[in-house]
Amino acid sequence: MANATSSIRVRFAPSPTGDLHVGNIRTALYDWAYARHTGGTFVFRIEDTDTTRVTDEYVAAAIDTLKWLGLQWDEGPEVGGAFGPYLQSQRLAIYAEWAQKFLDAGDAYHCFCSQEELEARREAQKSAGTPPGYDGKCRYLTAAEIGDYRLAGRSPVVRMRMPDGYTTFTDLIRGAMTFDHNYVPDFVLVRADGSPLYTLAVAVDDVLMKITHILRGEDLLSSTPRQLRVYDAMGVKPEDYPNFAHLPFVMGQDNVKLSKRNGEVSIAWYRANGFLPEAICNYLALLGWSPGDDREDISMKEMTELFTIERVGKNPARFDMKKLEAINGDKIRALAVSDLALRALPFMQAAQLIGNEPSADELQVLEGAVPLIQERVINLAEIPGLLSFLFLPEDLFAIDPDSAAKVLTADARPIIKASILALTPLTSWEVTGIEAALRAALLEDLGLKPKNAFGPVRVAITGARISPPLFESLALLGRERSLARLSNLV
Ligand code: GLU
Repeated sequence: MANATSSIRVRFAPSPTGDLHVGNIRTALYDWAYARHTGGTFVFRIEDTDTTRVTDEYVAAAIDTLKWLGLQWDEGPEVGGAFGPYLQSQRLAIYAEWAQKFLDAGDAYHCFCSQEELEARREAQKSAGTPPGYDGKCRYLTAAEIGDYRLAGRSPVVRMRMPDGYTTFTDLIRGAMTFDHNYVPDFVLVRADGSPLYTLAVAVDDVLMKITHILRGEDLLSSTPRQLRVYDAMGVKPEDYPNFAHLPFVMGQDNVKLSKRNGEVSIAWYRANGFLPEAICNYLALLGWSPGDDREDISMKEMTELFTIERVGKNPARFDMKKLEAINGDKIRALAVSDLALRALPFMQAAQLIGNEPSADELQVLEGAVPLIQERVINLAEIPGLLSFLFLPEDLFAIDPDSAAKVLTADARPIIKASILALTPLTSWEVTGIEAALRAALLEDLGLKPKNAFGPVRVAITGARISPPLFESLALLGRERSLARLSNLV
């Protein structure tokens, strides 16, 4: 455990049935920030008991995503810890043992009802207007009835007995919560095939891992009374229950709860599309929490300093792509040039503009080039498109046909010719000399307006009407290639 200075223990416990998405990561971030703020321990537990939906790839991707975001955990996969293992699939014997204890103590019972029987009775409840859910049919089976079921070849589930009455608890965000048990029927802990359900595994682990604070999505609020019931059966006193803080929903732009259906929700998508981890964290930090003023630029360090549960709102937060993009652009502009080059590199490699083993020369050109685009991109994925003209070999360099049609008209020919004449005699190839030569030849001698003068040169050199600044582009491209591109057009 890394330097824990308090006994606060917070966990992030995803079920990786797909790539982690915006909602998961907002939860992970708040868990992490709360643990860091309080000097506590951040536990990362993988809830992978649903083997039909969780795959090894998704588990590996979840670990990778958390690492990429910089949400370092103190206990969990890869780092271990005193309360492991941290993959639920490796803890099945523990859940089985607790289920057996609950059966022995009479807190739970074997239930033999088949899916079809449950379904039929649910329909009957619906038409009678009575609360839905398990009706307690198997609660008090006699030994003879159990024997008959077994003889008939039925395998039972283990079902937790929910006593009559109410569950109350204080949610750290939502305040006093009360659940009427008429609406919290007896629930399944272990399936007929012996596999544990989420409610059993999550509650057992939170107790055994000595979790003190459960910050998680509001969609799990309704499962809380069942989890408290499991704590109770485990003999945990109410004053020792973990504290719950249910984070507000994240809504999509359309005001519908953000879900996989909204498309761009997976963190892998943002990574592939050139978003910086610190921008994602900055944006998600503000999606339901406020630092107390209206600042929008938050570093991870500031978040750990400022994060308190009191400042998490109750109201749903709306995901705003434009705001995330704006923050991403700001974070890109704030990077040191060498850092930006390093982060742009994999995108350049994916676009096959730089090889997998970049040469010193390529890296130098990239470092020289990124300042040209640093002010104008909102994500790293735009960079290859803007810089391809510098990295493509001449035989692959091509002018965008639309730009050619609009700019490289008959009028452009004398401009290109004059540019060649002006640039050829330059003794040194650098920005100020290039700029002075072109201005003198095109603006003064030919009397052109800058837009008309430089447009054709820009298209000739960069292949497009939208490009990094022209004189810098010429300087970086070099004398030989620049003159060759111009000469090709006359
Ligand atoms: N594993 C659960 C999920 O991903 C969350 C568990 C929890 O936070 O209580 O939905």
